[in-house]
Parts: sequence; C-alpha cells; structure tokens
Amino acid sequence: MPLKVAIVGSGPSGFYTVAALLKSGADCQIDVIERLPTPFGLIRGGVAPDHQKTKNVWRAYEKSALNEAVRYYGNVEVGRDIAIDELQDIYDAVVLAVGSPLDRKLGIPGEDKEGVIGSASFVGWYNGHPDFRGLNPDLNISAAVVVGNGNVAIDCARVLAKTPEEMTATDLTDYAAAAIHASPLTDIYMCGRRGPVQAKFTNVELREMGQLTDCHPVVDPAQLPDSVPEGLEDRERRLCERNLETLRGFTTLSAEGKPKRLYFSFFANPVEILGGDRVEGVKLEHTAVENGRAVGTGNFFEVSCGLVIPAIGYYGEPFPGVPFDERGGIVVHNDGLVQGNVYAVGWIKRGPTGVIGTNKHDGDHAAARILDEQSNDDKSGRLSLETLLGERGVRWVTYPDWKKIDESEIANASPGAPRRKYSEIKEMLAVLD
Ligand SMILES: Cc1cc2nc3c(=O)[nH]c(=O)nc-3n(C[C@H](O)[C@H](O)[C@H](O)COP(=O)(O)OP(=O)(O)OC[C@H]3O[C@@H](n4cnc5c(N)ncnc54)[C@H](O)[C@@H]3O)c2cc1C
Repeated sequence: MPLKVAIVGSGPSGFYTVAALLKSGADCQIDVIERLPTPFGLIRGGVAPDHQKTKNVWRAYEKSALNEAVRYYGNVEVGRDIAIDELQDIYDAVVLAVGSPLDRKLGIPGEDKEGVIGSASFVGWYNGHPDFRGLNPDLNISAAVVVGNGNVAIDCARVLAKTPEEMTATDLTDYAAAAIHASPLTDIYMCGRRGPVQAKFTNVELREMGQLTDCHPVVDPAQLPDSVPEGLEDRERRLCERNLETLRGFTTLSAEGKPKRLYFSFFANPVEILGGDRVEGVKLEHTAVENGRAVGTGNFFEVSCGLVIPAIGYYGEPFPGVPFDERGGIVVHNDGLVQGNVYAVGWIKRGPTGVIGTNKHDGDHAAARILDEQSNDDKSGRLSLETLLGERGVRWVTYPDWKKIDESEIANASPGAPRRKYSEIKEMLAVLD
C-alpha cells in the first residue's frame, strides 16, 4: 500500500516536493490539487511574459506530473471544494504549497484610491491569471510610479515600457498588450526608499533596462556611491558591484530617439498617495540610509502620475483551519511541520523570497520529513477525493486535460509567440467540452 500524499498547489514548491518524493524511491501515491485549471503557479502567472526561458522550468515539473504515481486535480480549491481537515483524514500527509498571492500594503494614506494596483494584481492581469482578468487598469496616463527596488518592480516597469515588437515572442495576454501599447505613458518612476546598494534587482534584469528600444533609463549619478561600502558579504558585494556598474553605464547612454523614460528614484519613500477618488500623484520623502535602514530627511517632493504599482513584496493568505502568522504572512510551522500530518513548503512556509530554485530545498526537506514521520495508515487517498469532489459537482481538470488546454493555447498563438493564453476558467474548460 503506497503512502498517500496530497500536495496543495502546483507551483515550484509543490512540484519540487513531488519530485523529491518520487526520487526517494518510496512507494507513494501523490495527488497535486490546484485551484486553477492550469498548473505551475507563478511560473505561468508571475514570471514575466518576455522571460520565456525562465518559464521553461515547467518541463521539469511535467516529468513529475507524468509519473504514474502522480495525478493532477486542477480546478479544485482547497478550502472551497474540499476542506483541509478532509484531506488530513483521507491522506497520510498533506503539503501546503499555496504560495503568497497577496500584496504587501504600503500602509500610507490614499492607498485605496483607484489606480493604485498592487504588483500581484498587475502582474496577474498581464499574465492572464483568471483572478485578475477583469482588472482593466486605466492606462490612459502619461506617468506611472512603481514602488519597490526588486525584480518584480523591474518586471512591471519593463512590461509597461517595451514596444509591441519587443513583446512579439512573448505570451503577454492580448487584452494587456492592447491596453499597454495604446497607452500614452511616457514616464515611469521606480522608487525605492533605500539606495542602489540595497536594491534587490538581479543584474540581468537591471541590465535589460538599458537595452530597451523606446525607453531610456534615467539615473542621478549623485545617488551612486563611488565604491561598494564595507561590510557586505561576498555574494552581496558582487551583486552590488555589478549593479552599480550597470547604473553608472546608464548615465552615459543617449536618450535620443527614446520617447519613454524610466527614472530610478532611490532614497525616495512614498508617504501619501495624492488625488481624489483616483490617484493623481505620490508624495515622497527623501531618505538617507543609516545602518542599512532608510531614515526620513524631512524633505518631501511630489510626482504626478495616474498609476501606482506597489511592488514591495507578497503576503500569504490565511488558510482555513491552519494557524497563520500575521506578521510574516506565512503559516505557523515548526521546520515545515504545520500540524498533525500537514507540512508547508515554498512561499507560504518561508515568505516571498528567493528564486525558483530556492523552493527545491523546501520540497526535499518536506519529502524527507514526510517519509520519516508518516506511515501508511491505509488511507483512501484519491478514491475518497474523487468521491467527495463528484458528490459536490466539482469538475476537476486532469493533466491530460491541461495538455489539451496547453495545445489549444499553442495552436492559437500569433506568429512568433509561444502561446495565446486563456485567462478565464470558462474558456479553459470549454476547450475540454
Ligand atoms: C511577479 C513574479 C515574477 C517572478 N519571476 C521570477 C523569475 O524570473 N525567476 C525566478 O527564479 N523567480 C521568480 N519569481 C519567484 C518564483 O515565482 C517563486 O519563488 C515561486 O513561484 C514560489 O513557488 P510556490 O510554489 O511557493 O508558490 P506559487 O508559485 O505561487 O504556487 C502556488 C500555487 O498554489 C495554488 N493555490 C493557492 N491556493 C490554493 C488552494 N486553496 N487550493 C489549491 N491550490 C491553491 C496557486 O493557484 C498556485 O498555483 C517571481 C515571482 C513573482 C511574484
């Protein structure tokens, strides 16, 4: 009798857990339960549409999905279609791999104004995540402020700045492409409350901002230190050196023929979103960095804009029946063990940090703990899962079903594009009818 394991969520952390269980050689029956019909979490819905090479990691996950010990149950939301305690009863182990789908808030006045759109929503919208299909941001604007100095902030700025030609070989959704490319937007401000030394962008992403057809990166040389400060660890130091070199390089680029500008505004902390019902600007405070922390200087300035995208990090969603750490935005756990036979991996365990590969360690660790701590209790696993879902009229999507949706998206692609994404669940299910 195999050990029955339910993995809730089909993003990287879920699939790395599946791979580790399979690799162990233990006799397991693994069911991956995913709230969307489409698998792979942020690989599909987060990673930028013009970074197809990064998205290719799905191929490794597919190998696991096609293993005969594994089944995929897409379009099944745990907490809505089936409760976590029901899964605990019918599986030997349950792994929460549900990610961190919410935006961290800026926590400043005016944040609820129309036109303030968190990066989770904005990225989900351009990437065709069904939750954000109806977002319909008003891009009839000349300026936007992206708050944050990480890769997600850069992604948002870049997708707004690229030309239709630069987005040809991407899976940017049709409706997002139409809205972005019709927008009169010319000025994008990327604000970070700390300086270039503390900025979190990786160098590849940063460099790309100097290679855009229509957009000129604007950097104030006075904000760049002459050298990397003492006290950084080797890895941080190398990243910092490369980023400073790139930013210095930006100051020498010509803006000629580039109608758009991306302003790197360091040492700028947003303190208020301005406007009436709609955003009309952002009030920011100049900062200084002391011991790595941003400290207000009492000098304020304003930037007019019609869109604000806070990209300051993600936050987990409290999961019904599971203790939640409100401060960290993660589930409460002890080295990955949440409670009873429930484990956590990925962003819902660690918070929203690291790269895709960082989740592999979580998957390896959870698999090892499960194999060590849980025994086969003659649970009914997928038999009961399918009975319960059937009784509740839930239409689950199998992996072969997903492949049909996938093939249909690929077949519908415009020339040069990898696919034309479906962004509504009903469209995806219609492919299967
Ligand atoms: C905008 C953005 C761009 C990124 N770009 C890169 C990049 O270029 N390179 C890189 O290395 N990293 C990138 N990352 C980071 C990377 O995407 C994450 O490290 C990784 O996706 C986290 O994996 P996860 O499995 O924890 O969560 P997720 O990928 O979020 O997967 C969680 C899955 O759980 C599902 N789920 C949620 N709730 C339920 C429920 N109740 N029932 C069933 N299923 C549920 C979700 O639908 C989702 O499919 C990016 C992140 C973001 C936000």
